[in-house]
Amino acid sequence: MRIARLPRDDDSNGWSAILPPRSPNPALSGDRAADWIVLGAGYAGLAAARRLAENCPDQQVALIEAGAIGENASGRNSGFAIDLPHNVGSSLDELEGSHRFMRLARTAVSSLEESVERYGIDCGWSKDGKYHTAVSPRGVREVLEPFAKELEALGEPYRWVEMDELQETLGSPHFTAAVYTPGGALMNPAALTRGLADNLPANVTLYENSPVTEANLQNGIHFTTPGGSLRAPKMVLAANGFSEQFGFYPRRFLHLVAHCSLTRSLTEAERKAYGVAQSWGMTPANAFVGITMRYTPDHRIVVRHGLTYCPSQRISAAELAAVKRRHKRLFDQRFPMLPDVEMEHTWSGFVCLSRNGSPGFGQLAPNIWSAVCQNAVGVTKGTIGGLLAADMATGRDNPLIADMESLGTPDQLPPRPFLDLGVRARFALEHWTNRHEA
Ligand SMILES: Cc1cc2nc3c(=O)[nH]c(=O)nc-3n(C[C@H](O)[C@H](O)[C@H](O)COP(=O)(O)OP(=O)(O)OC[C@H]3O[C@@H](n4cnc5c(N)ncnc54)[C@H](O)[C@@H]3O)c2cc1C
Repeated sequence: MRIARLPRDDDSNGWSAILPPRSPNPALSGDRAADWIVLGAGYAGLAAARRLAENCPDQQVALIEAGAIGENASGRNSGFAIDLPHNVGSSLDELEGSHRFMRLARTAVSSLEESVERYGIDCGWSKDGKYHTAVSPRGVREVLEPFAKELEALGEPYRWVEMDELQETLGSPHFTAAVYTPGGALMNPAALTRGLADNLPANVTLYENSPVTEANLQNGIHFTTPGGSLRAPKMVLAANGFSEQFGFYPRRFLHLVAHCSLTRSLTEAERKAYGVAQSWGMTPANAFVGITMRYTPDHRIVVRHGLTYCPSQRISAAELAAVKRRHKRLFDQRFPMLPDVEMEHTWSGFVCLSRNGSPGFGQLAPNIWSAVCQNAVGVTKGTIGGLLAADMATGRDNPLIADMESLGTPDQLPPRPFLDLGVRARFALEHWTNRHEA
């Protein structure tokens, strides 16, 4: 089968732009063979390749990636390794579901942290926790208060933060209150993915800039790229939103585009005017309307705003320019004391959601396993999905596989154009009903 829609991540990613240049691994050339192929080198593929190699030290793992490491969604996100579900229910079933989610997410955080420490990955990994913030009293009532109650029911530590303290901590008068939770981690995601890729076990060969343009999944796996071909008897599919083209998960995935900006480092004078010394991360009560923001250890401010339906998985330069202007306007509203700070980098990335929030995890064929559809929380969900797909594929007993399977599988979506109409209407309603959180 021909793989027509290839990832086309541009070079606008600010997280990699602020890092030193990196030489990518050679692209696939000639005819190669391996024992395993992992397709896609985001968090899911990196975790799967590492774990396969550890589980099968005498076998060869080929990790094949369309672009350069750190330029995909895994390297261009907001850099939150999230350990709590965004919405916790209060029934016993939902609480148990939340416990399962946390077990999975925390295993992912520990696994990433172990790699950061073992390989000395310089990605600004910090356990600063995060502030879940509401702009309006209605957001406090409808989102933060139930969230705090649910954390109590889960026995999770948290702290309620009122406006004055929040203004001091975030340096912005824009927010009414927040729930602070101490778990998870923050980092430069491009530096983290680079570090994970540059420290893979010796029996993993990573091919970068090698888009798979032709796939034959009869009698083993046979991939063709512009420079060569690759064969293996077994594979783990970790191409996230591009996976449908390989014949799996038909009409299961919603493709969205998310946008992020990074300011330049604040000058000494600006830091003084800003008045905040400590880095922080905050997520909004409503992810569609609100802004995810961070203040990084190198004194930059991250703005993540805008989540739009984008089935083409493409965005134009004009759209990106409009995003940059919007981010600057939102930044100015929140940080009036920093009028001259521009968005040094603005970029977009593609995320993949399922209708019911379930991941695309498990065995797809006798020789094919998958870890895809991370529902926009891929730092942790992709990492654990990849690790567990590798354990499942190699028969390694891991009780977390049952937790992962309990999250279900992606529901089918209506056919287009009904899907397009439905999603756009739903998003418009979401924006309208939550406009108080802008
Ligand atoms: C702006 C933004 C902010 C976000 N913020 C966060 C956040 O703070 N925390 C969080 O957890 N998540 C966040 N996300 C979501 C997160 O980035 C994704 O969920 C995560 O990157 C998915 O990881 P993955 O490994 O499954 O997929 P990807 O990172 O998309 O990796 C899949 C890989 O497959 C490769 N591939 C696809 N097709 C082919 C082919 N034909 N041949 C070869 N290779 C191919 C792609 O090039 C890609 O590298 C954000 C996303 C964006 C865009």
